[in-house]
Amino acid sequence: MTETSPRALSEDELSSLVTQSVQSTLLEYLNACPVCFSSELRHYCRRPSLFNKGEHIVYEHCTGCGVVMRNPRMPPNLRLSIYEDKILPDDQKRLLPRNQLHYAYMLRWIERLYPADAPRRLFDFGCGAGGFLLEAQKAGWDCMGLELNKDLARFVTETYDIPVYQGLVDDESFAHERFNIVISAQVFEHLLDPRQALVDLRAHLDDPGFVLIEVPNQLAFKERLKRGRTMDDSHLFYFSAASLSWMMEDLGFEVLHVQEGLRPYRAFAGLTKVPQPLMEACIGWMARMQVRTGLSVLARLKP
Ligand SMILES: [Zn+2]
Repeated sequence: MTETSPRALSEDELSSLVTQSVQSTLLEYLNACPVCFSSELRHYCRRPSLFNKGEHIVYEHCTGCGVVMRNPRMPPNLRLSIYEDKILPDDQKRLLPRNQLHYAYMLRWIERLYPADAPRRLFDFGCGAGGFLLEAQKAGWDCMGLELNKDLARFVTETYDIPVYQGLVDDESFAHERFNIVISAQVFEHLLDPRQALVDLRAHLDDPGFVLIEVPNQLAFKERLKRGRTMDDSHLFYFSAASLSWMMEDLGFEVLHVQEGLRPYRAFAGLTKVPQPLMEACIGWMARMQVRTGLSVLARLKP
């Protein structure tokens, strides 16, 4: 018989154990789609889990609105507490030049459609390490972020001197905050209830009431190729241009612009500034070839 010496589990090991035990016993199954409330859910795919070796995760397709959702999934209280207290290594807080280039590009794209004389108070919902906020601040926006992770919220406030609210968007202590534009990049796919999140965000919007949501594209090459292979367990939803636009329109927004094409900043990662016409040409060409890589939808609250 082999004896093992007792030792304290690391935070990652503990979190992984909790996740595994919960996955096998407490997974909750949703009987209806949180985006459109339809109960017409069909099997979409079953893939090996990225985080828990040997386990599989299942996705369903809502025939009502078209969204693809992880079902069953981890219960809400556990998901939130794991993310809120996680301490992230320094390399996950470092801003990558290619991402900064992309954010700057997105901001120029917003500026084209944003009324020139409108107030410019911008809110980044799920600001992470602050990359988008930093570019927005440079471009003259009055910025604030929200981040559930305590470590990241403190990091962004201390490093870039940008106010970040640590908590949830429906917290009472956040209720008085007002913004003219909300942006959210790579966040909605992780949310337990993306529709409710957009309802909560809408309550903070003043004129002109812009919102930009960027998520992985359900119809992207990469996602299609990954079918049957490992899959990011933390992605609870996959949107297409149609399903995301539908949700935004159903909640009173008018879609102004949809972008699904190549993120040119990936190809030009070594350059600090890519001419806008070159960026546009690449995007246009990829769109004509029906190559989808990401998904960004810019919308405006209807009067
Ligand atoms: Zn639905």
